[in-house]
Amino acid sequence: MAENECTHDCSTCQANCSSRQTESLKAPQNAGSDVKKVIAVVSGKGGVGKSLCTSMLAVLTQRKGYKTAVLDADVTGPSIPKIFGLSGGIEGTEEGMFPARTSTGIEAISVNLLLEDEQTPVVWRGPVIAGTVSQFWSGVMWGDIDYMYVDMPPGTGDVPLTVFQSLPVDGIVIVTTPQDLVSMIVGKAVRMAKMMHIPVLGIVENMSYAICPDCGKKIEFFGESKLDGVAEKFGVKVLGRIPMDAKLSKLCDKGAIELMENGYLDHAAETILGN
Ligand code: ADP
Repeated sequence: MAENECTHDCSTCQANCSSRQTESLKAPQNAGSDVKKVIAVVSGKGGVGKSLCTSMLAVLTQRKGYKTAVLDADVTGPSIPKIFGLSGGIEGTEEGMFPARTSTGIEAISVNLLLEDEQTPVVWRGPVIAGTVSQFWSGVMWGDIDYMYVDMPPGTGDVPLTVFQSLPVDGIVIVTTPQDLVSMIVGKAVRMAKMMHIPVLGIVENMSYAICPDCGKKIEFFGESKLDGVAEKFGVKVLGRIPMDAKLSKLCDKGAIELMENGYLDHAAETILGN
């Protein structure tokens, strides 16, 4: 079957028929929310720094004066509360839940803020995960938000796809590491974005390199990055590179990412924010 021929299943078909039904799968926004832009951060697998990248972008966006939010859709591996030093105690009314607020005023929601014990593993299956993310969108009174970053479930399979279908995502940022099978992962993410008719804003390479603390030499553990070639092949931008940086992991462990002082994602934030 030709790539753009209708399969009569709008959830997986790429054809752009006038009768497309993907819009109807989207969860409605809460009456107490006015979210203007939703940016999803995706990765090919877990542990590549997707949550770190999401958090850094949110910090930079908030610093530029935009009202910023983070929706932690990585329901089975939630790390946003830890990175921002947030714990428990979400309150609400009949109209919905109030998000937690970080020390600099970023609004955030995560399943870990709702669990009595944040160490309880979440072993839910795909539809329950997607339902939870829909609730984070529809059931939370986000208020007035300029940019919401969504820390997506890792991978390009059923779970992130279902989450995408329930949220009105405006753009996607792909996070990879040099040892990832970069070309395959970027290719899958770009195809997933195409299926959803969502633009890919670009790629961030994490753990790109390290700087020797003694001599300042740049060390590329996995050889020269292949990212530029891959980005060109798929027609997407390289937004930035984050090195291995012990200061960053310490800030994440202390819940103090808002104190970060580095310019690793300045260009990425400028591109996303369009200035
Ligand atoms: P993911 O969301 O992809 O599962 P995380 O953002 O939670 O990954 O990162 C996994 C771990 O690796 C975290 O403990 C984080 O602090 C650490 N980490 C990620 N990127 C870096 C980096 N560039 N330098 C130092 N530590 C990092």
